[in-house]
Amino acid sequence: MTFIARRDSLVLLGGIVLAAVLVGSFMFSLTAKTPQRAKAIVIFRMDDPQPRWKEERLRRSIDLFSEERVPLTLGVIPRPLNKFSVADYPSFISYLRGLTRARGGLIEVAQHGYTHLKMTDVGGTSEFAGLPLDGQLEMMARGREILTSAGFEPLVFIPPFDTYDNGTLEAAKEVGFEVFSARYSDEGDPGSPVVLDGIVIINAATSLTKDWETGSVRSYEELKEEFDKIYEKGGVFVLEMHYYRFDGRTTLTVSKLIHYMKGKDVAFMKLGEFGKGYLDGTIRKEEGMWVIRG
Ligand SMILES: [Zn+2]
Repeated sequence: MTFIARRDSLVLLGGIVLAAVLVGSFMFSLTAKTPQRAKAIVIFRMDDPQPRWKEERLRRSIDLFSEERVPLTLGVIPRPLNKFSVADYPSFISYLRGLTRARGGLIEVAQHGYTHLKMTDVGGTSEFAGLPLDGQLEMMARGREILTSAGFEPLVFIPPFDTYDNGTLEAAKEVGFEVFSARYSDEGDPGSPVVLDGIVIINAATSLTKDWETGSVRSYEELKEEFDKIYEKGGVFVLEMHYYRFDGRTTLTVSKLIHYMKGKDVAFMKLGEFGKGYLDGTIRKEEGMWVIRG
């Protein structure tokens, strides 16, 4: 009898657990369908990842975002200084592939130029601007081929030195990119994406690097001020960063900034994720708020 009683209670317990799981998954499906709303969007863009150069800083900078569970867009150089292809470094590629697969795809790989060499003086220094369209197309396509052969499908193109011309945009679209990101200069409104002929331009509002001659980095207060300006108007705050700047002090600065942002009404996203949603209308501004339909 005791055995039967215990068996009954086990059946009852099983039923309760099953019901809880069903209710739980129902609640989850409800929340999954509820669009996320946020006052501003935050995107962290890390330029220049490449093998053979300051890899310890690369790992340190990426670890910060992984630990904070904040999405990150990596602007990888396909053929650094025209010396070698990143695909020739299997350990680097498997590291990146592991990152893009881990933790719900928090990290994406974007294409950052082709060789990152200076090719023209346009805009000060440029790899692409000022070159004929067919030359730009060829360089961009070769770079993309390296990344796709390594197993990535980059949606985003980031021109080195943040310089580009109309040909760069045209080439990016032709090669298959949907999102383009340089740095805000004079045109447009910082923090506002612009759609041009089917490609969305989402420029960085500011850079972590303050002075390119000395390599100095903006302070927490300076970065916070730049973020606040975009936040107040409900824009898209893209921060351009370079992994090799991540010494212990810079890591603390960016960590403090992330914690400050987490206390605000923001949605953290990857560039490709935001750009794609902005283009297809699943991410849009409604009555002053960003609505994200996942
Ligand atoms: Zn760069």
